[in-house]
Amino acid sequence: MKKNRTSIRWKIQKSMMVILAVTLVLSYAILSVILYNRNLSLLQAELTQEAKYIRTAINISGTEYLEQMDMVEVETRVTQIDVDGSVLYDSRRPDGTESTTENHAGRKEVKDALAKGSGEDVRRSATVGKDMYYYALLLEDGSVLRVSKVADSLVSTAMALFPVMGTLAVLMVLFALLLARWQTARLIKPINALDLEQPLENEVYEELNPLLVAIDKQNKEKEAVSNMRKEFSANVSHELKTPLTSISGYAEIMKNGMVRPDDMPLFSERIYKEARRLITLVEDIIKLSKLDEESVELEKEDVNLYDLTREIISRLSPQASQKDVRMELSGEPVYYNGIRQILDEMIYNVCENAVKYNNEGGRVTVWVGNTLDGPKVSVSDNGIGIPKEHQERIFERFYRVDKSHSKERGGTGLGLSIVKHGALLHGAKVNVESEPGKGTKIEMMFAKG
Ligand code: ADP
Repeated sequence: MKKNRTSIRWKIQKSMMVILAVTLVLSYAILSVILYNRNLSLLQAELTQEAKYIRTAINISGTEYLEQMDMVEVETRVTQIDVDGSVLYDSRRPDGTESTTENHAGRKEVKDALAKGSGEDVRRSATVGKDMYYYALLLEDGSVLRVSKVADSLVSTAMALFPVMGTLAVLMVLFALLLARWQTARLIKPINALDLEQPLENEVYEELNPLLVAIDKQNKEKEAVSNMRKEFSANVSHELKTPLTSISGYAEIMKNGMVRPDDMPLFSERIYKEARRLITLVEDIIKLSKLDEESVELEKEDVNLYDLTREIISRLSPQASQKDVRMELSGEPVYYNGIRQILDEMIYNVCENAVKYNNEGGRVTVWVGNTLDGPKVSVSDNGIGIPKEHQERIFERFYRVDKSHSKERGGTGLGLSIVKHGALLHGAKVNVESEPGKGTKIEMMFAKG
């Protein structure tokens, strides 16, 4: 099924856009402030210079000089203010507004000039509606000369920068989109070229290591399962073939009339036994493959393991009495939420083995009860035991410690595999303790529900 997946390119583009937007806005703001300050200091230098020239001119030719200034178109407004703040002269303003006669004693730059010889200020002019820069200088006669000029406000500086920044933004966005496309293609290419059969052989980004390790693990698991299947099929064929060959052999001899009537029951018995073995084998295979496919109806119920074990022991009693094996049950009723049929098979197989691999007159003791870790079924026998080196392997399919011995006792080699799979399905643990010649203890520990 195709899932709705996000695109890496889109993700890269998105983050690039965010970075770009932040960078552009920040640099726009910083640039505007820098430019504004620079403009202001240029204006300041210019007006200071201009004021000094005018002062020199006044010193040489008197205040009439100012009258002449009206003749020229200048962008600078020149004002002469008396000590009391009254305006002695005010040039034509660059914006065309009327000259003022208002008292200027309160203006900051004028006050500073009167006190310290010079003063400056940037103010928003109410009449012009623009920022003005004022520079005032004390003249020799005690009056104050003031020059002023329109200063670019921060907003207008920013506005002036806008076309440049806008063009830059468009270009950078286009560039970022192209870069993202190229970068994505470049990043993705080696990923698409990965060799998934040999994931660890790839020389690719280290960030992909966890994924490649996971794929490698999966590959190995798949391979192991496939090998197990192959081996299992081979084993099954072999296991089926042996009894079938015997049956066919006995039947052939009987068909050819080579069996004396007296021996007939013996031959029929052998055919019957082999056929029974086949049936048990096929039943076990069916159970295992059901567990394998997990196609068991997972209907869990609260099972009283004690009652179930008691019932299993009574089912096994004919087999046990045949070998004169005594079976004992102790413990207490304990409930476990599981699949009854599988729990039955697990306990049955372990108990049956304890009888099967026991000696004449042996004993099997079963304990069922609750422990701190959860319910436990423990089956001990004083039978033939399992040598250490086989203990790990007895849960494998068709694994028998002594093949002929097992067959002779009706074993298929699948019983403990069924136990293992049942335990896996229930999250239970199986523990084996055994000593050859002394006996075996198999414990099934079910996790607390
Ligand atoms: P089988 O059908 O041969 O009994 P299992 O899978 O049940 O197969 O057991 C595998 C092998 O483990 C048996 O063939 C037997 O050799 C050994 N085994 C299992 N249970 C016992 C036991 N209680 N005592 C001694 N050997 C045992």
